[in-house]
Amino acid sequence: MTSDYPPGRGRVRVLAAGIEIEGVSIAGHESFYKLPGFRTLLEFGRAPDDVVGYANVCVTHGHLDHMAGLAHHASRRRLGGLPPARVLVPAAAADDVAAWLAASERLENVDYGVELVAAAPGDRVRLRNDLELRVLPGRHRVPTVGYLFSEVRHKLVPELEGLPGAEIAQRRARGETVARREEIPLLAYPGDCSPDVFDAAPELFRARVLLIECSFLLAEDVERARDYAHIHVADLVARADLFENEAIVLTHFSQRYRPDEIRVALAGLPDGLRERVIPFLPE
Ligand SMILES: [Zn+2]
Ligand SMILES: [Zn+2]
Repeated sequence: MTSDYPPGRGRVRVLAAGIEIEGVSIAGHESFYKLPGFRTLLEFGRAPDDVVGYANVCVTHGHLDHMAGLAHHASRRRLGGLPPARVLVPAAAADDVAAWLAASERLENVDYGVELVAAAPGDRVRLRNDLELRVLPGRHRVPTVGYLFSEVRHKLVPELEGLPGAEIAQRRARGETVARREEIPLLAYPGDCSPDVFDAAPELFRARVLLIECSFLLAEDVERARDYAHIHVADLVARADLFENEAIVLTHFSQRYRPDEIRVALAGLPDGLRERVIPFLPE
């Protein structure tokens, strides 16, 4: 059987600081990440069987290795009798995405009913009572946004700690503030990006898990990374002291590299960073 993927590349599943990430990411080929714990799909390079059930989708930009599966996904959900998905796309690309979906609907003579959400930095979407999605600024060659998933907790204000529940309920009924909101940043993902994104979205440094591209690794590819607005591993080394993340999952490696070349390059990362890095590669 021939594989659809370059040798040693393809489906990946990693567990990063307790967060499961499954999918495929190969620069210029396809990227999609299932986040089963958040019931959300990041990116849409294609729509294989096991992502059709995902009703929340976050797309970072319009390059087709990140978006080609969108119409296919909508069509398959429709065919499978599933309700329309909610799909976040960068606000600056939303009209073009809507026009593309409309053309696909005319071609198929069906109505997908996709809930297209124009996402702008600072926007917040509640995914569950305890889970919120925030849109981050992106930096790439086309309009791009990133995404941050945070756990939301409501904690009793310190002055009320130790009081009986009935007393707290009375105070709440009187309109007093009894709880404060706490956000724990769980996973940040900027989409394809140049290193400028670290200045635009410093939240990236503080999420428990940073899922980030690292398209280029070899010294001879520094210029190429600049030209195409991608991360080169040297950009991470230059910021090694800034990453507070428990785990850093590196993705979107160029097809030019073999998996063993990727592992060798990452073994050269400085102490303190190297131990936290997980390459998004098959075992
Ligand atoms: Zn890409
Ligand atoms: Zn791109």
